[in-house]
Amino acid sequence: MALARTAYVAGRWVDQAQHFAVRDPFDGEVIAEVTDSSDDLVDAAVDAAARAFATWRAQPGPARGKLLGALAQRMLADEARLAALCTRENGKPTAEAVGEVRYAASFLTWFAGEAERIYGETIPASQPGQRITVVREPVGPCALITPWNFPYAMLTRKLGAALAAGCTIVAKPAEQTPLGALALAELCDQVGIPPGVVNIVPSADGARTGTRMIRAPQIRKVSFTGSTGVGRSILRTCADDIKRVSLELGGNAPFVVFADADLDAALQGALVAKFRNTGQSCVAANRFILEAPIAKAFTAALVGAVARLKVGRGSDAGVDVGPVIDDAAVAKLRALVGDAVARGATLLHGAPPEGASRVVAPIVLDGITPEMAIWREEIFGPVVALRTAADEADALAQANDTDAGLVAYFYSRDAARQARVADALEAGMVGINEGLVSTAQAPFGGVKHSGLGREGSRHGIEDYTNLKYLAAR
Ligand code: NAP
Repeated sequence: MALARTAYVAGRWVDQAQHFAVRDPFDGEVIAEVTDSSDDLVDAAVDAAARAFATWRAQPGPARGKLLGALAQRMLADEARLAALCTRENGKPTAEAVGEVRYAASFLTWFAGEAERIYGETIPASQPGQRITVVREPVGPCALITPWNFPYAMLTRKLGAALAAGCTIVAKPAEQTPLGALALAELCDQVGIPPGVVNIVPSADGARTGTRMIRAPQIRKVSFTGSTGVGRSILRTCADDIKRVSLELGGNAPFVVFADADLDAALQGALVAKFRNTGQSCVAANRFILEAPIAKAFTAALVGAVARLKVGRGSDAGVDVGPVIDDAAVAKLRALVGDAVARGATLLHGAPPEGASRVVAPIVLDGITPEMAIWREEIFGPVVALRTAADEADALAQANDTDAGLVAYFYSRDAARQARVADALEAGMVGINEGLVSTAQAPFGGVKHSGLGREGSRHGIEDYTNLKYLAAR
């Protein structure tokens, strides 16, 4: 039976006349009917965040941190239920859903600590008798807009930093996965985060609700994770009011295997970087670039490993690759694979998806060229695209041949090459013999069209604070 879920505004659960369906990506079954927040409700959420800001910012940092820490503990105590919900609305395998709950909680734990360390500075003045101090203040009520691929973690990475800094929030989760955000709101309520500090407004119309939030005069900062196209339009909207904005956008990660690499390690890294979350990750390896001497051996090993991956319903035991999120995702994969094959790519494993199923068995394509759409676009699915490079210079030129610059991976055992290649890669993050870079302690974010700002790490809180300089005599 479908669940009913409502918006969370000013500490109250608010239902409205309009609802939208949330579906299990595996079979399309309706798993919940969720309140479709009206513009009036969005305005009420913004008002609530603005009203709560004065008292929340006045709380000592350690007190805010204590509540964030309690929220992390509640998430972990409830991890089995939260993971099952995530698998249901997002489709990811159970083990990955548990991993996501822990990853999401780790941002709350991290920022609980950072709430105690929002340091200012003193600066030696050039005028006798003058004292220069710099303090960090919270920017104000924030609008947070998140995607469907990591429903908990993409929210806590923002919410943790915002609340630690003393900001209040209005969050809009993706239409496909609002249940995780609403479950998190329940836990916020349970641990005693004051009404109005966290507000969640689910919506079936991301553009309308998102724009309403962003344009609200009380909102002083927007933090968005999602596609580059939407990020660009949000940046334009924020320009009108000179609003602070952070953008975590799409990637097109190269995964380079050099001839001197440990091929077993590279294979393990490739499987994680490609198939985590069924390939639907902004840091997914999108373009495999293999140095010629090892290309054949690595390709054979990769095809063998891919053939052993178990595909199916995320909650079934032993499943490695769940369904993709919706029909549009299947259509996109069909088009990308079809375009590559039509332009001369070789299908080494699997076949273009047929029919209506959202369970797409892994596909391996060789002979990718820059004219193919799969080279330029985020695949966002379980498709491996392989290309050979003649040497290091060729591999680097191929790796940087993209507008995106979120993450790049490479495998090499040569220390001098590691330093040289890491330096030359145009990306905000580099995995060196490492296929998984995401962790709360490190600054996550991109260059080029992959975004502005950093999340996680001690830098993550900076985006939610303003520097105020005090000149005193
Ligand atoms: P999306 O279509 O851009 O949507 C992201 C969020 O923005 C959703 O909540 C969506 O609401 C909302 N939205 C849509 N149009 C909007 C508008 N005009 N104004 C304001 N908000 C709007 O992205 P997605 O398909 O959900 O997510 C996949 C993308 O996210 C990929 O490109 C991926 O690389 C990127 N991503 C980046 C990171 C990172 O940290 N760099 C992490 C994860 C994902 P609706 O759902 O209601 O449309």
